[in-house]
Amino acid sequence: MIKVIGFDADDTLWDYEYIYHEAKPKIAKILGGSENYDELFYQLDQAEVRNISLYGYGVKSYALSMLENVARFTGKSFDSDQLIQLIELIRDMLTENFPINPYAEEVLSALSSEYDLILITKGEGYEQERKVERSGLAGYFNAIEVVSYKTEAIYRKVLKRNSIASENFLMVGNSLKSDILPVINIGGKAVHIPHEVAWFHEDVSDHEREAIDYFQLEHLGQLLELVQRLAPRI
Ligand SMILES: [Mg+2]
Repeated sequence: MIKVIGFDADDTLWDYEYIYHEAKPKIAKILGGSENYDELFYQLDQAEVRNISLYGYGVKSYALSMLENVARFTGKSFDSDQLIQLIELIRDMLTENFPINPYAEEVLSALSSEYDLILITKGEGYEQERKVERSGLAGYFNAIEVVSYKTEAIYRKVLKRNSIASENFLMVGNSLKSDILPVINIGGKAVHIPHEVAWFHEDVSDHEREAIDYFQLEHLGQLLELVQRLAPRI
């Protein structure tokens, strides 16, 4: 029986991945714009993933990988004006008003009257806490958990810390790798709501996807109906 519903934040309750996608043409513009920067962005994507174990997730981690790769790619033609513009771009990424999912308020408000809600978001503590605060949605949650990774071990810890049995837990999120697979694997239930903007690092293989049983919705607005339909039997 579901007693607690967990929500992912980025690209589930609000859009955020687009900020990284939109940064690429802005970086190209700062660097001159006329060159083909595909190789730079390919290297940057690889560096970001490679550096996760050291820097974690988030805009500031991205900034370190980005500045290093831009400097390597452009060599001596990279100057201090461009460095300042790139740092201003990072600051803009951290302060940009990201769009809240249009269904978030209604869904959280309705579900919070019947279930305990917990927000589980992956990233750097200060960065994620600021986003949660700026979203205006924090008040719907009994607990807000900012984690460095979303692995089975981390979900076990989060559930234990909040006295939640995995069979009473339903997780909602846009990433099969972070929000769905690990939760199913520890005995919880999960609802996948894909987002149109995705990060390749969050992909899972067809084999992994086919091995698990989870629910899939097209948008967050369909969650209330799903939970009402499932509530008597799961
Ligand atoms: Mg997400």
